[in-house]
Amino acid sequence: SSPALSTTSSHVPRGAPHVVLFPSAGMGHLVPFTRLAVALSAGHGCDISLVTAMPTVSSAESRHIAALCAAFPAIRQLDLDLRLAPFDASSEFPGADPFYVRYEALRRAAPVLLGPLLAGAGASALVADIALASVAIPVARELHVPCFVFFTASATMFSLKAYFPTYLDAVGAGHGVGDVDVPGVYRIPSSSVPQALHDPDNIFTRQFVANGRALVTADGLLVNAFHAMEPEAVEALRGGSVVPGLPPVFAVGPLMPVSELRETGEAEQEQGNCYREWLDEQPPRSVVYVSFGSRKALPKDQMNELAAGLEACGHRFLWVVKGAVVDRDDAGELSDLLGEGFLRRVQGQGRGLVTKSWVEQEEVLRHPAVALFVSHCGWNSVTEAASGGVPVLAWPRFADQRVNARVVARAGLGVWAEQWSWEGEEAVVRAEEIAELVMEAMGDDAMAEKAANVREAASRAVADGGTSYQSLAAFVRRCTA
Ligand code: UDP
Ligand code: UDP
Repeated sequence: SSPALSTTSSHVPRGAPHVVLFPSAGMGHLVPFTRLAVALSAGHGCDISLVTAMPTVSSAESRHIAALCAAFPAIRQLDLDLRLAPFDASSEFPGADPFYVRYEALRRAAPVLLGPLLAGAGASALVADIALASVAIPVARELHVPCFVFFTASATMFSLKAYFPTYLDAVGAGHGVGDVDVPGVYRIPSSSVPQALHDPDNIFTRQFVANGRALVTADGLLVNAFHAMEPEAVEALRGGSVVPGLPPVFAVGPLMPVSELRETGEAEQEQGNCYREWLDEQPPRSVVYVSFGSRKALPKDQMNELAAGLEACGHRFLWVVKGAVVDRDDAGELSDLLGEGFLRRVQGQGRGLVTKSWVEQEEVLRHPAVALFVSHCGWNSVTEAASGGVPVLAWPRFADQRVNARVVARAGLGVWAEQWSWEGEEAVVRAEEIAELVMEAMGDDAMAEKAANVREAASRAVADGGTSYQSLAAFVRRCTA
């Protein structure tokens, strides 16, 4: 990380705004919030508080919050006690995704519990997670505290979110969701629209639409994206073509990883997970890094095809396997998921390393041995690939990931296997197809060069005077005013 972000200082200049950050749930939201917290605190002299609801859904979130508080004592934790606003999720939303259920619990608690927290902290501004926007804005408004909304995914997805309520109103109830032509951006095919949005009664859809409608009532919008990578979406959001009357849009990405929050090697060595050592032993640009993010498991048959594909591609690989949605439930052995034979063959020869543990992905993506990232295209993963200049073979599985995969391909950061299935589609992508595409991507020097150009553009955006640096400074001025 940059020297500015590494300074741990409890000194906050007089008159600096006190910004309260309110993330929702899951590492995909918490990670960009902690990056924003450190950028504002250490980089822009703001006083920062982080609203947390313990216990978190995953243990990765708990460890991350503990690391933040230990490394940055100036950042305060404001505990939102969900026990004071109980709701019976299992009977209302049986079988729903535990992260979405936590969003819902926070949304119901906010009208009662957020006001006292903000007032008690003497907040000068609130930054609410997009998943909490429609419930947080009225609370802040009542206290005359400006409320900003932080969108943790791509600007293109943000444009779809902002436009979606208008789209629904235009097509009318009872019609399926077709292609969505976002004004000023481009047409998002129906097959790329997040699965849940095809069902109007889905818990996620209800939240998505309510939050989308609330955007015009916020005081400003932050997005972890940068202009050069998504010019259409950033300009359309700012210019009023997506939705007229949106507040200022601050494109502040890619927010920089914080070296102090990296998990150290101790826990990994206990689990025999020595990926750092293993990577150090590999030749430059020889390794395929494979990960589908922190919160989704591949179905068993798809996992077997991927294993066979990686074995057949002939390249070295580091594969982070997830066996369950929530890490606390992920007790099974790797050999149960993948079979002893596969593990013996690839790990025995030292050609591959397969792990179920947490790896520090942004560190992996900066390692000289890594040449290609087979990714689900969760937006944080995309921003980390962009900052590292690592080409992406995009295999979106869920939610906003196909929209993000399109961004990856358009920006020249990688290729998207558009015909490959995602959750809810029957087809299993076969080992031969996977091996073939990995081999092609590993040999694609032009793609590697384009990815390096994206890295340069990302680093210009966040450097002093860059578009994202200026946007963050402008946001801080708004909080001070
Ligand atoms: N900016 C932005 N969204 C806006 C307005 C501004 O991201 O709606 C960024 C933009 O990158 C611009 C910088 O903030 O270059 C400074 O803008 P401005 O001078 O309007 O900020 P102010 O000084 O008014 O706070
Ligand atoms: N991550 C990591 N190690 C892991 C799994 C995930 O560091 O073993 C990080 C990853 O670098 C990213 C975040 O967790 O910052 C996951 O967010 P993303 O938006 O990519 O995907 P999600 O997990 O939300 O699907």
